[in-house]
Amino acid sequence: MNLYNLKHHEEQVSFTQAVKQGLGQQQGLFFPDTIPQFDDIDAVLDLDFHARCAKLLAALLDNELSEDTLFEMVSKAFTFPAPLEKVTDQISALELFHGPTLAFKDFGGRFMAQCLAQFSEGKKTTILTATSGDTGAAVAHAFYGMENINVVVLYPKGKISPLQEKLFCTLGGNITTVAVESDFDACQAMVKQAFDDQELKAAIGLNSANSINISRLAAQVCYYFEAAAQLPKEQRAQLVVSVPSGNFGNLTAGLIAKAMGLPIKRFIAATNVNDTVPRYLASGNWEPKPTQATLSNAMDVSQPNNWPRVEELFKTQGWDLNQLGKGVMTDQQTAEAVKALDAEGYLCEPHGAIAYQQLTEQLAEGEHGLFLCTAHPAKFKESVEDILQRAIEIPKPLADRADLELLSLEMPADFAQLRAVLLKL
Ligand SMILES: *Cc1c(COP(=O)(O)O)cnc(C)c1O
Repeated sequence: MNLYNLKHHEEQVSFTQAVKQGLGQQQGLFFPDTIPQFDDIDAVLDLDFHARCAKLLAALLDNELSEDTLFEMVSKAFTFPAPLEKVTDQISALELFHGPTLAFKDFGGRFMAQCLAQFSEGKKTTILTATSGDTGAAVAHAFYGMENINVVVLYPKGKISPLQEKLFCTLGGNITTVAVESDFDACQAMVKQAFDDQELKAAIGLNSANSINISRLAAQVCYYFEAAAQLPKEQRAQLVVSVPSGNFGNLTAGLIAKAMGLPIKRFIAATNVNDTVPRYLASGNWEPKPTQATLSNAMDVSQPNNWPRVEELFKTQGWDLNQLGKGVMTDQQTAEAVKALDAEGYLCEPHGAIAYQQLTEQLAEGEHGLFLCTAHPAKFKESVEDILQRAIEIPKPLADRADLELLSLEMPADFAQLRAVLLKL
């Protein structure tokens, strides 16, 4: 698979390099120079989940990894289903939250972990990342128990939810979590300092598990096919997919699936009031505003870093950007949408509810709508209970973790202390 840097077209790398490197020069994103197309989509959809994922990824990677190797990797990464639930006659929910950290980020995180394990060839590797919650949990779980790989996750002490902290700070083993007595920006600055320290980098085989890593997108392509495979054939031809969007990685993966031949008629990019993209689609001007905190906090992004990939896809596929649906929801509208779904008998958290509401408003007669449920309702327990005015259940794996002891180290935002910890792992 050949990829080029969107900021420096002459920088070309293989999939392996792109995964190891994360970003290209000048922080440019890597983008595939060709996207393979399947002619007989029904035959692909008829395959079992893991066999289909291996086939899709082998084609996408242009056989840089064999289908057999990829089958093993996806069997280890995708250990949970992505079921489609009927919500109304015209609308289905694609549930992407059945993984260990109850959010769709498990798909990308776990496949990226398999890739990095594969490419590190047994050499000692240290994955260092800062998190404000979700990504750190997905990364920690994805690498948990892997040989020769240590993971260090920094997070701002007292600034992530207690349940979230329990989810990844109780693992131990090859996972080290550090509660930094400062904010998320300070955590990120410490990570950046580590990557600028060449001596340290070489000594511990430092690598990032960046959210813009191409391996994540490749993994996410797979569940769009899995969704279509679960629909009756007559509904597959009129499919409209609504994606709750923050950094726009999920939407990028869906568009790649379409480019590979999956018959998705159109997409809707649904956001909260952090609406840089919908405003850009309407006006043609890219004008990010300061980020606002909302109920759908995983989408509180005003400078979505995957957007250049979306635009490049439209350009290279010859699609019209005006065909991309858009929609913006305030917190009040989001709460109403959670209630509306509840009235349909479907319990949903704010991110999924935003995608659902936009779908109901934009779906035409004869079309079938699908919205992505990116997190388990229990992950946003406080908001959902507040909106619905009743208690909701916590799934057992999460409830079990809640009783475990926190294993995090604590330190001030001091790079020298972090460096010492990293060298001792
Ligand atoms: C990360 C996240 C999103 C946003 O996905 P992008 O790929 O960044 O657009 C939406 N919902 C939840 C629950 C998330 O964790």
